[in-house]
Amino acid sequence: MALIVQKYGGTSVGSVERIQNVAKRVARASKKGNGLVVVVSAMSGETDRLVEYANELSTEPPEREMDLLMSSGERVSAALLSITLNGMGVPAESFTGRQIGMITDAVHMKARIRKITGERLRRTLGEGKIAVVAGFQGVDEKTGNVTTLGRGGSDTSAMAIAVALKADMCEIYTDVDGVYTTDPNIAPNARRIDAISFDEMLEMASLGAKVLQTRSVEFGKKYNMPIYVKSSFTDGEGTLVTEELKEMEDVLVSAVAYDRNQAKITLSHLPDKPGIAAQVFSLVAENGINVDMIIQNTSEKGFTNISFTVPKNETKLTIKTLKPFVGDIGAKGVTADEKISKVSIIGVGMRSHTGVAAKAFTALADASINIKMISTSEIKVSCVISVDEVDRAVRILHDTFNLALPPKKRAVKKKK
Ligand code: ADP
Ligand code: ASP
Ligand code: MG
Repeated sequence: MALIVQKYGGTSVGSVERIQNVAKRVARASKKGNGLVVVVSAMSGETDRLVEYANELSTEPPEREMDLLMSSGERVSAALLSITLNGMGVPAESFTGRQIGMITDAVHMKARIRKITGERLRRTLGEGKIAVVAGFQGVDEKTGNVTTLGRGGSDTSAMAIAVALKADMCEIYTDVDGVYTTDPNIAPNARRIDAISFDEMLEMASLGAKVLQTRSVEFGKKYNMPIYVKSSFTDGEGTLVTEELKEMEDVLVSAVAYDRNQAKITLSHLPDKPGIAAQVFSLVAENGINVDMIIQNTSEKGFTNISFTVPKNETKLTIKTLKPFVGDIGAKGVTADEKISKVSIIGVGMRSHTGVAAKAFTALADASINIKMISTSEIKVSCVISVDEVDRAVRILHDTFNLALPPKKRAVKKKK
């Protein structure tokens, strides 16, 4: 008997009819004799709605309370799905994160999973029942506080459970039928990718392709647990996220990703002397802020500017953290620009090909899109641009690298 973990996202459980649709799919999979753990997200829009309530009631809602609040959305879906399954004569039990022993660290709103005890799940499965689990949540063992895993975290709940139970398969069901060469909602000519490496998917996810949460892909890579991304509405092949296969190297650029949830922080007129950057980024790190791109300008008369990007929801905290420091060292100030976005091209083939970055910059320049910051790694090139231009930039880069064509038809030039 195979053990399968399935995860259904917010849109897939977004209404009573959709929950019934999911229940039918789950029942079908269980009739084949498989053991099933089904992880669910909150109904679409629910997490945002809860966050809005909190923001209406407070300018700085405590994160501990936010976690208890936000975790409720997933519980509703889990209970409703289990009620539906039982009504269909399919035995099922629903669980919260705490009930299945999903132990995390104590970092509210972006907790990391430490371990899953899993006994409760095994018992339910042993009794021939389907376990329906509320995604996105865990519990801090020391304090007993409820934690959540960051937006999109139900993907990670599912992968962590799959790894902990040594499942045969983890399927992520969503509102698109796989991972595409870019967000199909932005570029209608985007192409579904049959198979993609963990490394490329990791880059895509961390650069904003929200179809999988980054941490879920990290679990896949670390434990070599393939991930199947499929539609909960149709029966297609989907996308297999797996270890790197030989033929994947032949693809120069495999995807374009974008991220609107970034802000650019600028510290201006800093004394240009050893230790300043160290102090800035130590302070930022001590406050758990995730820094991405960093630029330091060339020094002019002993002073310089430093700019870096952070997730938009950490803008306030970053400014609050750096303001006193800026005052102490006599810098001019710290400002935030939230009207930016990051657009990136990703492909393992970049390791062995030249000219990719130049081609991307030229395409953006030809479209009069100004690049504010650049960063590169072995398999990606990212540019920060104005938020108003992100959709256009995504389509331009997607067309520049012929991503609407099958991989074999995209012309590439080998590095000598
Ligand atoms: P769920 O609620 O099922 O977790 P998400 O909204 O988190 O679904 O993720 C699915 C969405 O991810 C799609 O609707 C699509 O807009 C977006 N997306 C961004 N980049 C990609 C990509 N490269 N391939 C597929 N979907 C993408
Ligand atoms: N409901 C959470 C969110 O909207 C988690 C998830 O959907 O995976 O981010
Ligand atoms: Mg998601």
